[in-house]
Amino acid sequence: RFSAEAVPQAPEDPLYGLKRAFLADPSPNKVDLGIGAYRDDNAKPWVLPVVKKADDILRNDPNLDHEYAPIAGIPTLTSKAIELLLGADSPALKEKRTTSMQTISGTGACHVGALFCARFFRGNKTVYVSDPTWANHNQIFSNVDLPVVKYPYFSKDTKGLNFAGMKAAIADAPEESIILLHACAHNPTGVDPTVEQWAELADLVAQKRHFPFFDCAYQGFASGNLAKDAAAIRLFVERGIELIIAQSFAKNFGLYGERAGCFHVVTDTPETATRVASQLAILQRSEISSPPLYGARIASIVLNDPALFAEWEDNLREMSGRIISMRTALRAKLEELGTPGTWNHITDQIGMFSFTGLNEAQVLKLREEAHVYMTKNGRISMAGLNTKNIDYFAKAVDKVVR
Ligand code: PLP
Repeated sequence: RFSAEAVPQAPEDPLYGLKRAFLADPSPNKVDLGIGAYRDDNAKPWVLPVVKKADDILRNDPNLDHEYAPIAGIPTLTSKAIELLLGADSPALKEKRTTSMQTISGTGACHVGALFCARFFRGNKTVYVSDPTWANHNQIFSNVDLPVVKYPYFSKDTKGLNFAGMKAAIADAPEESIILLHACAHNPTGVDPTVEQWAELADLVAQKRHFPFFDCAYQGFASGNLAKDAAAIRLFVERGIELIIAQSFAKNFGLYGERAGCFHVVTDTPETATRVASQLAILQRSEISSPPLYGARIASIVLNDPALFAEWEDNLREMSGRIISMRTALRAKLEELGTPGTWNHITDQIGMFSFTGLNEAQVLKLREEAHVYMTKNGRISMAGLNTKNIDYFAKAVDKVVR
């Protein structure tokens, strides 16, 4: 029944394979620049101090029980989660033109969005994604039989945005196509449009009546400023464009394994929002019945307490600040070493990742000779760099580039 023909052996997920190879490497110098999870200056996972406080509050709550969450998740989380994205004074919120549902982190939110589009979207049921994009996007959409088409995004020459190519592809796509956009801190390139470019994209999307699908996995983590990292989404909402948002709390709360996230739909009328919510509830019920509580409760405690919220913003500035300082240091060291090529893209790019421009042969050489682990496309997780390994890494890069 389950012959190799029926169930062929699938390749291992490249990132988890990389992690395994890193763990098996006995070298004391090894550097892990693979998976996108924040590390402190000692290369250790960081539990946000504000999350520790929320955790204490939660554990000391005498009324805490383990009942099921409502199908759409805990309202104290979802109501604040959408405010975080749109701004508390957004007309879309005042007019009740939004609906929100708690999901299994950002991946679950992307899946719910994909499933919702597959079932209910009446436009061109094709998803346009950036070239490149987070690898999981391709399988999340193809799992629900939505075709995926790439639009140009990264320019190999400038290691920045191919804005003309991106615009042309979005303009050429059939009207009412689904356009996947990374709200900020594009994964894997670290390249984001400027605010002016976002405004142009929003005009173009409105003109073509496309349906934007925002993936927001790094709000606050990119610049350290929650509003700034949501600026793109807000520009589209201000234009009255209907859209969906997949929101993850994995990176900005450091709640990776707790799977806290939300899915939101911004519609043109409150009636549409109510109908959408009714169908989302059915999709959710059939897939996970009700979402997990622990991470959602932690995030909800922080989002609903002004003092804890302010402390969270401090924690966000600490994470993004450390990453930005690593960008500055890496660029300076490569320039100091006179490493062939230009390195301004390291500081121009933003967020967890940098697309270094290193090719596959150089990446493999770095792995074999220097025990530096990064994905074959030359992407590095900036969070893996720290004051102790940055010299070593810069010298290793210098050696393979020469
Ligand atoms: N979207 C993007 C672009 C990501 O980079 C990630 C995580 O790496 C996610 C979504 C979802 O992550 P999670 O499911 O852990 O929230």
